[in-house]
Amino acid sequence: MSARASLYVHAPFCRAKCRYCAFFSAPTGAAGPEPRALSRYLTSLEAEMDRQAQIFGRVSASTLFFGGGTPSLLGIDALARIMSALRQRFDLAPDAEATLEANPDSAAPEFLRAARSLGVNRLSLGVQSLDDAALGALGRAHDSAQARAAFASARDAGFENIGLDLIFGLPGQGVEGWLDTLRQAIALGPEHLSCYGLTVEPGTPLAADVAALAALPDEDAQAEMFLRGSKLLEAAGYEHYEISNFARPGRRCGHNMACWRGEDVLGFGPSAASTMTSSGTPARWANPASLEDWETLVLSGLAGQSGREELTVEIRAQEALMLGLRTADGLHLPAHAAATGLDLRLSHAGLLAQLERVGLVLLEPERLCLTRTGMLVSNSVIRALGFESKSENLS
Ligand code: SF4
Repeated sequence: MSARASLYVHAPFCRAKCRYCAFFSAPTGAAGPEPRALSRYLTSLEAEMDRQAQIFGRVSASTLFFGGGTPSLLGIDALARIMSALRQRFDLAPDAEATLEANPDSAAPEFLRAARSLGVNRLSLGVQSLDDAALGALGRAHDSAQARAAFASARDAGFENIGLDLIFGLPGQGVEGWLDTLRQAIALGPEHLSCYGLTVEPGTPLAADVAALAALPDEDAQAEMFLRGSKLLEAAGYEHYEISNFARPGRRCGHNMACWRGEDVLGFGPSAASTMTSSGTPARWANPASLEDWETLVLSGLAGQSGREELTVEIRAQEALMLGLRTADGLHLPAHAAATGLDLRLSHAGLLAQLERVGLVLLEPERLCLTRTGMLVSNSVIRALGFESKSENLS
């Protein structure tokens, strides 16, 4: 039987670097990627696909995700070549969820129509804010009018599943300002919303901007944004299904759900991470976050070999706890006990009862999940249970 996995492709180009961004991407300027750089990227991507197909065979996939960077900046010819290369080597289900991240300034109507006809059926639009001053302060390459126009173009192009990415906790933003952004986003009628708390990443221009840092909302205001935002979205019919994600019924992001369930993911492109199980042993690796280093690795036939780590049962179980608790589905306690030999209902009975009493968790006979307030302090809850969280609260 062939392996099953979700497929991920990292597009490594952005027009300019946003002031808060720590993702890997190479700034290209307004014209987008230079043809030679794009061609080298595509050649390396195909070589990486060849190598992984040799190792894992014709992997069956029910989700595909183009992340970045700015995938919509690749242009339609490159996107068509990648889709074709994937289909030649892997079995992408006919009804697969195929998501493309797009920025409003590179989501022209003709591009969106062509992407839709290639089989991309879900668009994740990087709106971030609908306040032009905030967009300028973040260093985004678009304004709110372009974001609205891109949303309308995506609908016209036939996208029935559109997600908007938004950021809260921006410099100078108050609770009402954030709720106003959410109301405007809801009015557009997306199927999905991702709402991330702004994180000041070391080394970014934002981290060195003393005035912006001084204008950041304090912790109480950020907590209020999270709690009131969640209530507002739920009242508008969106399920709060993961700490940072909201969806209309049936519109959860299938790709991210697979990741949060700890299922296998096969990633391509610089900085892409993979978790694949071979002969019953799961292993993880992450590609170098550099176009040159990734190309060198791939072209020397070593894709997937560098930084490879086998995942022990303990690591898998710890990750299941951390990821499960981020979702509304929570952690399935009997499955966790079977995997680790540690039944939290017995080993942490007192602590769980205490967390439940103060309203941070819901404890059912077979399931443990965070309440909305518990989501605010998810890292602390995870640490209290004896695990180290790698992620930040409110993100
Ligand atoms: S568009 Fe996204 S990936 Fe590119 S620089 Fe901005 S935040 Fe980073």
